[in-house]
Amino acid sequence: ELTAVGIGKTFGDFHALRDISLTIGSGEFLTLLGPSGSGKSTFLMILAGFEEATSGTLKKDGVDITRVPAEKRAFGMVFQGYALFPHMTVEQNIAFPLQVQGRAPGEIKILVDDMIDRVGLRGHEKKRPAGLSGGQQQRVALARALVFEPAVLLLDEPFSALDKNLRVSMQEEVRRLHQELGTTFVFVTHDQSEALALSTRIGIFNHGHLQQLDTPKQVYERPANRFVAEFLGDVN
Ligand code: ATP
Ligand code: MG
Repeated sequence: ELTAVGIGKTFGDFHALRDISLTIGSGEFLTLLGPSGSGKSTFLMILAGFEEATSGTLKKDGVDITRVPAEKRAFGMVFQGYALFPHMTVEQNIAFPLQVQGRAPGEIKILVDDMIDRVGLRGHEKKRPAGLSGGQQQRVALARALVFEPAVLLLDEPFSALDKNLRVSMQEEVRRLHQELGTTFVFVTHDQSEALALSTRIGIFNHGHLQQLDTPKQVYERPANRFVAEFLGDVN
């Protein structure tokens, strides 16, 4: 369980986030949705430990992690521009986080092999990223983020560069992985249909404020305010 209490973030005198409080349950699929510049990525970076909050606290299973550095949090991450290593093969890319952790070669082989099957990359193990399609590259990024069995996986618009069909098949992939692994997923998108299809709950951001946090059904049927209703294209 991840809990944010009163998280704020300023850049100079600009407030990117104001007083964000929420709890993300273990195994949940939480989607952060909102317009460009609303603070979604900033919040994810703070969860990851790459940005420090200006105010507020973060807890993981009741333990204060506000000042714990990103490496120690060890969350899995698939971020925009968080690229694969171009000089490494698919299996080397996926093995990398396990090598950093100092796992034994035999164990690394078993875990990497298992992930290659899970994300449908069998037959591509020896290729380098440049020899893969966009969707296959995203699968490698997913496998690399999940191979060390993180408690939490953070995804920031992982499919925004993919065409429509590929996006839909990657959504299926992510949904299946979430069901199989039971990992907590925090997923950022500004695609409403993606949020609706995947999430246990949706958090809607605007101008650094969390406007509503509810199940997909609730946010659509009972938008908390006019912004949410209009953003979801459902003005009554
Ligand atoms: P998008 O959907 O376009 O990715 P977002 O919701 O992820 O948007 P953020 O990237 O979190 O938005 O940015 C929130 C606001 O904070 C924006 O106005 C952005 O310009 C500002 N911001 C983010 N990072 C910095 C930074 N390092 N320095 C100054 N301002 C920043
Ligand atoms: Mg963003």
